[in-house]
Amino acid sequence: MVYHHIYGHEKQIAFLKHVVSTKKIAHAYVFCGPEGIGKRTVALSFAASLLCPSSEEGAGCGHCSTCERTMKGSHPDTVIISPTVATIKIQDIRDAIMATTLHPLEGLRRVVIIDEADHMSEPAANAILKTLEEPRPGNFFLLITARPYRLPPTIISRSQLIAFSPLARSQLTRFLLDQTKLSREQAEIIAACTDGRISKALSLANDEYFSFREEMHHALTSAIKSKALAPLILSRFISQEKMELEDKLTVLTTLFRDALWLKETGSTEGIANVDFLEIIRILAHQLSPRQILLNIQTLTQAQLDLELNANKSLTLDASLFSLSFP
Ligand SMILES: [Zn+2]
Repeated sequence: MVYHHIYGHEKQIAFLKHVVSTKKIAHAYVFCGPEGIGKRTVALSFAASLLCPSSEEGAGCGHCSTCERTMKGSHPDTVIISPTVATIKIQDIRDAIMATTLHPLEGLRRVVIIDEADHMSEPAANAILKTLEEPRPGNFFLLITARPYRLPPTIISRSQLIAFSPLARSQLTRFLLDQTKLSREQAEIIAACTDGRISKALSLANDEYFSFREEMHHALTSAIKSKALAPLILSRFISQEKMELEDKLTVLTTLFRDALWLKETGSTEGIANVDFLEIIRILAHQLSPRQILLNIQTLTQAQLDLELNANKSLTLDASLFSLSFP
């Protein structure tokens, strides 16, 4: 069955199976939810369920040639559009719309998947809107996006919105243990530090990430010892290291979250960064809840600013120098 290999998203999958088995399929769906949690995999499985000739209980069989090619994105009746460079161009949408005017090549249905649909240029979005207003029978559109608010509301209102949530920590841990060679402790650390995002978790499942964490541990230990010099030491460390800035800031942010958790509950159960336990204890002991909260806010804001392409070193220094350290 095409959904068997998917971790999490049980409700969404049950719903998609239901619409296929009861033949109450909308002509357009918007799959929305954070980046990297598996929306595209569910979309491909849904497409396979729509095209599979031996689909059962609303799900593609998972082993016929239709299912296999659809899951790989190579079935001729599955048109997949993704942004080239930064935008989805009108021509790509026009080609897909043109395809929907023809009979499907192999079966009776065709699925058009638009990945990162919020990257459609305005003319591209308008073109798709026209098609959604007068859909041709047998054609189904799946728009995938982490930023549904950037899609024209008229597109949303002509589609059925399906919201996806990040995976639970336990689900992501299970996924990492099944799919990688990480130890349980490593899997739990990554699951806790990646907010339920499978693709981010996979990108960190390597030795480089854990040696970075060890070095970060050293840097934080000397930063805490050196008191006034702490921001400078951290700033130097963070700008030197090879890892992505986002991942470094995430470790810092989750450390302060852990400290707040420990301070408020007195329990180490549920702490994300178990390999930083001593440091978390010092932070929790020596900072006030307000200081910790402000640190979390500062770091979260820095991450948002960086996402919006703020100047890296300025943003980093401004936030590190306004953090409270023990
Ligand atoms: Zn099949």
